[in-house]
Amino acid sequence: MSTASGRSGLVHAEPLIIERSAPGRVGCALPPPLGDSEQALRDIPESYLRSTPPDLPEVDELTVVRHFTRLSVWNHGIDTGMYPLGSCTMKHNPRINERLCRLDGFASLHPYAPADLCQGALQLIWELQGYLAEISGFACTTLQPAAGAQGELTGVKMIRAFHKARGNPRKKVLVPDTAHGTNPATSSLSGYQAVEVKSGPEGVLLPDAVRAAVDEDVAAIMVTNPNTLGLFEEHIREIAEIVHAAGGLVYCDGANLNSMMGVARPGDMGIDVMQFNLHKTFSTPHGGGGPGSGPVGASAELEPFLPLPVVKEKGGRFELDFDRPQSIGRIKSFYGNFAVMVRAYTYIREMGAAGLKRASEMAVLNANYVRARLEGCYFLPYTRRSMHEVVFSDKHLEEHGVSTMDVAKRLLDFGFHPPTVYFPLVVHGALMIEPTESESPETLDAFVESMKAISEEAARDPELLKSAPRRTVVGRLDEVQAAREPVLTWRQTRE
Ligand SMILES: *Cc1c(COP(=O)(O)O)cnc(C)c1O
Repeated sequence: MSTASGRSGLVHAEPLIIERSAPGRVGCALPPPLGDSEQALRDIPESYLRSTPPDLPEVDELTVVRHFTRLSVWNHGIDTGMYPLGSCTMKHNPRINERLCRLDGFASLHPYAPADLCQGALQLIWELQGYLAEISGFACTTLQPAAGAQGELTGVKMIRAFHKARGNPRKKVLVPDTAHGTNPATSSLSGYQAVEVKSGPEGVLLPDAVRAAVDEDVAAIMVTNPNTLGLFEEHIREIAEIVHAAGGLVYCDGANLNSMMGVARPGDMGIDVMQFNLHKTFSTPHGGGGPGSGPVGASAELEPFLPLPVVKEKGGRFELDFDRPQSIGRIKSFYGNFAVMVRAYTYIREMGAAGLKRASEMAVLNANYVRARLEGCYFLPYTRRSMHEVVFSDKHLEEHGVSTMDVAKRLLDFGFHPPTVYFPLVVHGALMIEPTESESPETLDAFVESMKAISEEAARDPELLKSAPRRTVVGRLDEVQAAREPVLTWRQTRE
């Protein structure tokens, strides 16, 4: 039947034939005749029709299900075990978030639906903007950016628009040496030169270093607070004053907000603009597990430059405001990653103010517990109290010819995801541990005991660590080769 058109090369599925006049079938709901699609195919000129079938893998559904189920148990996720990946805040993702973001009224909403037909979604966006403003102390927020890095880009573009509007474009952005790589990248992408500022011996930025670096060409400083060493930048107020006095602005990388929700507000520290990482602080799956969301909070002075459109409330109705001549424009299609917003909204409503504060307190307590129990066993280069994460160096490991990577790989044999390694760059062979508030004391103890056992193995049998992991499905990869020659097609993986 499929070749009834006489074109032997035409490839499509065999149509289902049911005789309309079949006895006993009269009155039944029959599938619609295929005539129309048949006709459409006949309308395609011969020269456009392919002569061979597409070379797609021929697999049945059960094989596909088994393939992905098998792969899913090879992977380590927060649902399988502790995931102390520093800077990433791999906290528990409550299941109620997933249920609510799948509600039909949210999940099936058409992105072009007029404001009249999506009042509920707009209200949720508007309320979440308000909650984030309250948590952070900023005058306005936008939920549009799709990730932390895009939030940074949004914030620095707003800073650029601010200086431009004053007829003083400026050239440089100051970035501390402890910064996440996205900070200098954001500065460059926004057309600024990133200038590194060294942290002091205690791991925090000193006002004198900022004073020495700041001049009339500095558009902003990008500070992460707490910084990537897990330390609170205690001079932030003074630093903000120095930069403001020179006409610059203060950007805060807010990826580490999990350490101070309900305790302190970046907006009260002299900061002008900051991104939130909803997929970290506000419990959304991430890290290959789904899209993120990087809202931006800003001072009233920066409000005119927010990306388009802005969700507004007027007399109980919610609408999209496009009439913003100074806006930096659209940063992401439609409203951003809406399902992530529903999850974050659910999380905030479920936790309440007291719950968010408690989450931060527990995150800080857990990090300091792990730190206290591992100190001495692993070398702690900065001894000030930690916020939500703690960074060790490889000093004690090097004595045995063992690397940070060897420890990370060996941890997999104990059933734990490794910490972040070799970041921040200011710590040699860094091991950056962020337990988050989600882990029980029993799990923290099991993690600590494993880390201690590995440190003993390093002294006794360094070869054991170098050949790790031994209990995982895939052994140690040649990461350079894997990055340079990735195997991404189904054909090759079958070999
Ligand atoms: C995660 C992180 C970022 C980048 O956020 P993405 O959502 O991954 O783009 C930036 N800065 C810090 C300190 C981070 O931890």
